[in-house]
Amino acid sequence: MAKKQFKAESKRLLEMMINSIYTHREIFLRELISNASDAIDKIYYKALTDEQMVFDKDNYYIQVKPDKTNRTLTISDTGIGMSKEELENNLGVIAKSGSLAFKKENESKDGHEIIGQFGVGFYSAFMVADVVTVITKALGSDEAYKWESRGADGYTIEPCEKETVGTEIILKIKENTEDDQYDEYLEEYRLKAIIKKYSDFIRYPIRMEVTSSRLKEGSDNEFEEYQEEQTVNSMVPIWKKNKSELTEEDYANFYTEKRYGFDKPLKHIHISVEGTVSYNAIMFIPESIPYDYYTAEFEKGLELYSNGVLIMNKCSDLLPDYFSFVKGMVDSEDLSLNISREMLQHDRQLKLIAKNIKNKIKGQLQSLLRDEREKYEEFFKQFGRQLKYGVYSDYGSHKEDLQDLLMFYSSKEKKLVTLDDYVSRMPEDQKYIYYASGETIERIEKLPQTELVAEKGFEILYFTEDIDEFAIRMLTNYKEKEFRSVSSGDLGIESEDQTDNAEAGEEEDNKDLFEAMKDILSGKVKEVRVSKRLRSHPVCLSTDGEVTIEMEKILKSMPNNPNVQAEKVLEINKNHEVFASLKNAFEKDKEKLNLFTNLLYNQALLIEGLAVEDPVQFTNDVCQIMVSSSQ
Ligand code: ADP
Ligand code: MG
Repeated sequence: MAKKQFKAESKRLLEMMINSIYTHREIFLRELISNASDAIDKIYYKALTDEQMVFDKDNYYIQVKPDKTNRTLTISDTGIGMSKEELENNLGVIAKSGSLAFKKENESKDGHEIIGQFGVGFYSAFMVADVVTVITKALGSDEAYKWESRGADGYTIEPCEKETVGTEIILKIKENTEDDQYDEYLEEYRLKAIIKKYSDFIRYPIRMEVTSSRLKEGSDNEFEEYQEEQTVNSMVPIWKKNKSELTEEDYANFYTEKRYGFDKPLKHIHISVEGTVSYNAIMFIPESIPYDYYTAEFEKGLELYSNGVLIMNKCSDLLPDYFSFVKGMVDSEDLSLNISREMLQHDRQLKLIAKNIKNKIKGQLQSLLRDEREKYEEFFKQFGRQLKYGVYSDYGSHKEDLQDLLMFYSSKEKKLVTLDDYVSRMPEDQKYIYYASGETIERIEKLPQTELVAEKGFEILYFTEDIDEFAIRMLTNYKEKEFRSVSSGDLGIESEDQTDNAEAGEEEDNKDLFEAMKDILSGKVKEVRVSKRLRSHPVCLSTDGEVTIEMEKILKSMPNNPNVQAEKVLEINKNHEVFASLKNAFEKDKEKLNLFTNLLYNQALLIEGLAVEDPVQFTNDVCQIMVSSSQ
């Protein structure tokens, strides 16, 4: 029997193919099953136009059969088979795809579900096999042929016996080496898992004989093993089903089966799009944060299928970072895959899909917020931080998409409110959207800086997460209302007691006192002044300029520690008794003024959640006061 030679370049190509195209060896099974499915599809298409032919679904299936004794794995199908010529053309010429040709010939027909196109997938079998044997009989032919190859050195074709139409591919599985395990491709459980992973939605049954055990007849403790044929794949993808046929439970089961999470989905999003790019997608908003969500290990992305065959496990380009919590899959027939079918060739379609998906997720969250507020709050407590990062990231370019989805704790409602809630109930004389920052709600509640705004009856948003102020800075305003920290210099609130003029005079009077205090604090504050916002508290810190104290704290804790300082102002409540003591000390006892000023400054730091600079000095100062007051 004459051996036919691959052409020289083909030899190299084949070697390259076998060793470098694929990143996962296990995909050989995906490739061979896809070919089998294509072969059955071809019969199905023929039957569409040939009135003599009937396509009885029950007769068409794929079989996967490991044989440990002979170290073979056989993949057979009842598809269209190959003639001798087709064997030569399709398996003897690398990068020639009979399936692509078939698709082109049958373009006018309904359904473009044929998977093959590059004419290389078949050779992936050599990643796991030393010898590949193909036994095939073409539809409408009486002759069967055997094709055999050990890889790069060529192939043989000879006539053989085969009863039924279809193809059988027999892989002689490689021996294990020190580095590589091949035995696993003979294990039932492993093969089943690979089929589930990549080929679950092949439209024809993939059958496998599996070993089960049962009680021996007439015995109540003796077991016997027996072989049983099972269909391993689910065949009809849930995303191709009609939405009206599916229940909440179906989606929840899919979520669990796919191992998207250990929790339950909070909400599912099912979309079918027909257009320039057609695709189906099922996505989920999880109920709780995955344990690794805020770690470097977390990988965002959706599963990407092409015609029901898994291409990528985590396609990250499909999701923006701020929606990285979304789980799910996309299936499209319009993707241009690269030759390994593990990646995409052009990302034009992908970009279109990604944009579309982003808008759907946004829309879904908006309707959740509108119609199921409590559920949305649950969601926001878990993933709101990610949305705020989204507002802040990329120089604020996503803020339009995200601002309506934000929520903050409200001083009035004592719960989360949206910016729209806030703005829509702002009284007319309120200029700004007020916020206060601090570690916890309880702490903010007690901040002296909130006194004036609260007294005016204005609502305050409480910022407890480090990202909050940064995100808000990026927004700058919402519905034309600017954001303003309650600690900022100008609160935009007119003083109630018409004593502005008198006050100005008083400022003048106290000028020397404040200058003296500022000197005592030697550079720690930009200014000491009379507070317009304090009501019952004696003292607080506020800031002039862009950087607030909260921001300074966060920036200081960052690894590269940018040396950004807030311009601090020490505000004194002139209606508080302490003020009289200060004046008194200023006139009579400079030592005392020194002591009081340092004490007040340190108190203001403590209220702000900042550390006092010299705790020992501070406690000594307090003791000194205690001693002098009892004298
Ligand atoms: P592709 O599937 O991308 O076309 P392959 O290398 O996987 O490339 O297969 C090459 C060709 O061999 C296919 O296009 C098809 O014509 C033929 N072929 C492969 N497997 C089978 C099979 N099981 N039954 C019939 N034809 C097959
Ligand atoms: Mg193929």
